Amino acid sequence: MNSIIATHSHIDHIGSLSRFRQEYGTKIIAYEPDAQAIETGARVGAETYEVGYQPCPVDIHLEKAERCLRFGKYVLKIIHIPGHTKDSIAIYTDVASKRILFGQDVNGSYEAIWGGKPNQAITSLQKLMELKADILCEGHFGIYPPDAEVNKYIDDCLHQLQQRTRGLHERFLQLYHSRLYPTLLSSNYSTYLVNGKV
Ligand SMILES: [Zn+2]
Repeated sequence: MNSIIATHSHIDHIGSLSRFRQEYGTKIIAYEPDAQAIETGARVGAETYEVGYQPCPVDIHLEKAERCLRFGKYVLKIIHIPGHTKDSIAIYTDVASKRILFGQDVNGSYEAIWGGKPNQAITSLQKLMELKADILCEGHFGIYPPDAEVNKYIDDCLHQLQQRTRGLHERFLQLYHSRLYPTLLSSNYSTYLVNGKV
């Protein structure tokens, strides 16, 4: 294998990079913020999985996420899609009039413990949908052709995220109001007192 592009620095995606590099001379390519984690082993989630991680030098640091890489006759386009992690990237390429999207972990998780930010992820998933890919290679859950399946898969994930952020927002509003109303009531009460109405 000539090259590997690391879409993000979670251990389940980068755990074997050093072995590939050592045994096959595979070039490791990563977006700069995640390249640091790959090279140092900091915050890759190894402790959470309770496994070891062998840090790995990155051969090509992508300083900007929004760019193209050429492999022979194929052009891979890299896009920044924060949300699963702060600096996740996705890759797409057009081959024989079909668009193939390597979407990384479209399905999540989007938990903070893994660097997730649901609000950012919503924007990123919308960006992935706009690509109108014909084939989605998802980070954990397989390959989805054709375009309608890709659209459905991403849209389902988007819908779940939207539900979740709405739920969080509603819980925030409940909490906010449960604290705010007594304050308002007591301040109204004080106002009434000042105006001599009580
Ligand atoms: Zn991940």
